[in-house]
Amino acid sequence: MKNKKTIWLWVILILIAIIIGIVIYNFQQGTVTKWTATDLNNNIDSIEGDVSVNVTSTGLYVVEGYYRSGDKLYQFRSVLDQQDYYRFKDLFANKIGINYDKDSPWLDLARSLIPTLLYLGVMIWFLSSMTKGGMGGGMFGANKQRPRETKSDVKFKDVAGINEEKQELFELVDYLKNPNKYAQMGARVPKGVLMEGPPGTGKTLLAKAVAGEAGVAFFSMAGSEFEEMFVGLGASRVRDLFGDAKKTAPCIIFIDEIDAVGRKRNASLGTGTSEQTLNQLLVEMDGFGTNSGVIVMAATNRVDVLDPALLRPGRFDRTIQISLPDIREREEILKLHARNKSVSPEIDWKRIAERTPGFSGAQLENVLNEAAILVVREKRKMITINDIDEAIDRVVGGPAKKSRAMTLNDKKIVSYHEAGHALIGLKLRSASKVQKVTIIPRGNAGGYTIMTPKDESNFSSKEDLFAAIAGYLGGRAAEEIIFGKENVTTGAHDDLDKATNIARKMVTQFGMSSLGLTKYLTMAEEAYGQTKGVYSDEVAYKIDNEINTILEECYKISIKTINEHKDILELIAESLRVLETITAEQIDYINKNKKLPNEVLFEKERKDKEDKKRESGEILEFEPDEEN
Ligand code: ADP
Ligand code: ZN
Repeated sequence: MKNKKTIWLWVILILIAIIIGIVIYNFQQGTVTKWTATDLNNNIDSIEGDVSVNVTSTGLYVVEGYYRSGDKLYQFRSVLDQQDYYRFKDLFANKIGINYDKDSPWLDLARSLIPTLLYLGVMIWFLSSMTKGGMGGGMFGANKQRPRETKSDVKFKDVAGINEEKQELFELVDYLKNPNKYAQMGARVPKGVLMEGPPGTGKTLLAKAVAGEAGVAFFSMAGSEFEEMFVGLGASRVRDLFGDAKKTAPCIIFIDEIDAVGRKRNASLGTGTSEQTLNQLLVEMDGFGTNSGVIVMAATNRVDVLDPALLRPGRFDRTIQISLPDIREREEILKLHARNKSVSPEIDWKRIAERTPGFSGAQLENVLNEAAILVVREKRKMITINDIDEAIDRVVGGPAKKSRAMTLNDKKIVSYHEAGHALIGLKLRSASKVQKVTIIPRGNAGGYTIMTPKDESNFSSKEDLFAAIAGYLGGRAAEEIIFGKENVTTGAHDDLDKATNIARKMVTQFGMSSLGLTKYLTMAEEAYGQTKGVYSDEVAYKIDNEINTILEECYKISIKTINEHKDILELIAESLRVLETITAEQIDYINKNKKLPNEVLFEKERKDKEDKKRESGEILEFEPDEEN
């Protein structure tokens, strides 16, 4: 069998590798001088050329280089612990990095090849003896994973919005184009730029654009990839990445999700192996010269968990904040991605931008893509406003579950629940404006209400937060008012989650409760997903009480508001049961005229007629909605 053959092949290869290894090891013993930390200190002046530093998987620093004795050059190797390394580092700081000329490239090649071969061989051997099907091919692919180098043809014009940030990056582009200009002036260009922002806001795109504008190579790797597959390989991956990049300079190295490797050391969640990776990253960033033409760009959505060592001068000393696009930027992004699609001229992008608050650039792109897919599926020619509507809903919560039968009773509950959310949005001055309400189930949600902030301010007042909580509780409040306290459903659990989160933040972070201005939860703790800071049980008890008080207070506001406008609640709920989805305009109409909009009346009449026919046996098949 083919599998057996490969196993034997590998066994032989491994044997050969071991023999070569032993020979080379013995050979090297004679030529490399081992230096202790003290030797290194005493002989530092005799070192010639550059010094390379590698971090081993056990956390030791291997310093290697050449020194002169008489008129001959000898090789030395010194294995230091972290403390020693940092003590000596400054002595040869200007020598770290750039690869020295080796006397025997073969020796080096063999030395670097053996561990890889051994690894590969053993892994393949294990895998193929365990799984009889044999997935050797897959293994090959995985282990060969190297930093991806690509040419980027993205330009700044392909990035919509984020204008100030683009402006800042122009300087880097200029530097990458003519590094000499800066070197001659003695100007220090940042080696590392950190981009902070939520996922999908265009951080990768921006890094590619810098490479594209400058016409230089683009290396990319995600933080999580460093530790993938084989634990402990992270440090060597970092080394490879920087090694390749230095050979290709000028270029951009892009490290996505840098928090995966760059977490604070000693933090409770840190692991030994990722610490090695981080150390290697620091060594490499210190290693290349200021004007070596390599710029490292990294992305994260949580700067606060990063090890402060990464942010020191000479490393990532510049941070660029990228936030979710505002309404104007959303319009720009939509228009940009609509460029290569055939779109009906009636579409008003501004209105679509209004309807997509909180969407990232990636989600907006996805909306247009989904719309295009719908058009293709139905063999039409152009994207219409209806396609966009449907696409937005899909991106919010997965494809509509039109076929999922909803009992009439469910429908009734969901209609009041969603109407409750909508009514609070309508009636509380600080609450968000309702854009659309639907009872069509999507994903896990039975229905949903889309709201946009009434003004796009970055700050929220206490009143705003109260209104937001009241809005989330509006669904439950409506259920209680209509069906009674005993009959409320589990439909509100997600709402309660969100409401509690806001209330907790008001108490522990924003100083908006009777517990005063003390901050009980730091940003870092929150970023780790912690909901509890370091404080006594007594304080914890007080915090929980206070959260509850806020929720109760807000719930009272919801109940009161809905009771006061029960007529409107009924009209919205009824419209929802008839049309399933209602728009901001229809809600406004109901609010102003206190009656059902015409389209609801027409539809209702039609359905009533159908029901009658069905009862008399004229129609036999049912609509899925009315099935049970
Ligand atoms: P991040 O790295 O921040 O997670 P990406 O750069 O990978 O986000 O964005 C994913 C995609 O979303 C991009 O390829 C692009 O199509 C789209 N996108 C995001 N932000 C923008 C923007 N500002 N302008 C144009 N397209 C954007
Ligand atoms: Zn709800």
